[in-house]
Amino acid sequence: MGIVLKDILAALPKGEDVEVKQTSIFIENDKIVGIGSEPSGFKADEVIDGTDKFVIPGLINCHTHTYMAFMRNVADDLPFMDWLFGRIDPIEQKMTDDDVYWGACLGIIEMLKTGTTCFNDMQMNPCITTKAVKDSGMRAVIARGLVGSGNDEGGRKRLDDTYKDMEFSKDCDRLSFILGPHAPYTCDEEYMRIVSNEAKEHDMGIHIHLSESVSEIEQIKEKYGCSPIEMAERNGIFDVRCIAAHCVQVDDKDMDIMKKHNVNVVTNPASNMKLGNGFAPIPEMMERGINVCLGTDGAASNNSLNLFKELHLLTLIHKGTHRTPECISATEGFKMATINGAKALGMEDKIGSIEVGKKADLAILDLKKPSLQPINNLIAGLSYSADGTEVETVFVDGKKVVENGKVLNLDEDLVYKKVNEIIKRLTLDI
Ligand SMILES: [Zn+2]
Repeated sequence: MGIVLKDILAALPKGEDVEVKQTSIFIENDKIVGIGSEPSGFKADEVIDGTDKFVIPGLINCHTHTYMAFMRNVADDLPFMDWLFGRIDPIEQKMTDDDVYWGACLGIIEMLKTGTTCFNDMQMNPCITTKAVKDSGMRAVIARGLVGSGNDEGGRKRLDDTYKDMEFSKDCDRLSFILGPHAPYTCDEEYMRIVSNEAKEHDMGIHIHLSESVSEIEQIKEKYGCSPIEMAERNGIFDVRCIAAHCVQVDDKDMDIMKKHNVNVVTNPASNMKLGNGFAPIPEMMERGINVCLGTDGAASNNSLNLFKELHLLTLIHKGTHRTPECISATEGFKMATINGAKALGMEDKIGSIEVGKKADLAILDLKKPSLQPINNLIAGLSYSADGTEVETVFVDGKKVVENGKVLNLDEDLVYKKVNEIIKRLTLDI
């Protein structure tokens, strides 16, 4: 199957920079096989006219809990621990696999329609979010959220869920897996070591929440006499490729540790602000050369999975808190939402930029929208003016998954009906 995006404005890498250029992009099966000139022997089955269109690499949401989309707007304006243990946890105790499936479908619909083609997920129910990924045509990296103390039965079972999910998904190369120790306040030191040893043994990465709130810092300091970052380091969490969500409450020593071990930081500005956790020192991390990427967190704490909104916040808030407009440029923000995410996931040779040989994971934006007119600096437009409603067509693995704003592989109306029934039932006596 050959597809040409003909004479289209495209966001292309240029060294460390990004340039917007009029070109044609040639897709064969799942890959980009040519940019500019047609590769020899290429046969076009479909030509997409690029007039008034702008193609970008699909965005990468590096920290979310997709299934939580059905919990949108259900726990708001509460302190973090009350939010988690008073409201979210009781709902999660009652939810079924079927509920989780429809929640995951809702999250995927929202992400696809706003140009995200890959997400890094922490979930609780094996073979359910992965089924939604398979059904939707999206790409994802999945971690089973791991909670445990020592080698207790529950902790072992949750680890085994990861391998069960991998077996279930082995026919789908859009899915990959890492281990997901939830956080230093839900996994003790022995369990952390069991998880990090298994990650090393199976050559897997780790996805973890670290240093999200002041109460977490106090709790870990009291229990272990150190910061959550130090606790993770001394239990081997950074011995493998690690993606650490939040890292809001970190000091210089923590950041030096993170740099030393090449920890990838996922910043989630909306969730951090909404839960009253503060602002991660992202410019300071960038100065140290730490790889920073972007995430939404779950829709129960954001309450949106639209990465355009997150990009908007990311490129504005640090200018405000640091009192300088030079803090996090539009290009730096764009890279955090694309190639930096690919690097964090160990997939920079496959996704994150429009280059020959990479997967055709692309989002086409309609330029006939007031937010992107007149056409000046379109990279600035992505951060400062766009809101995701400009996304018209989305490709994952060279296949159309959104066309004219409509998700092709999931029934949107059915998903909306289901999630309304589910949340009504689950919140009845909470
Ligand atoms: Zn999270």
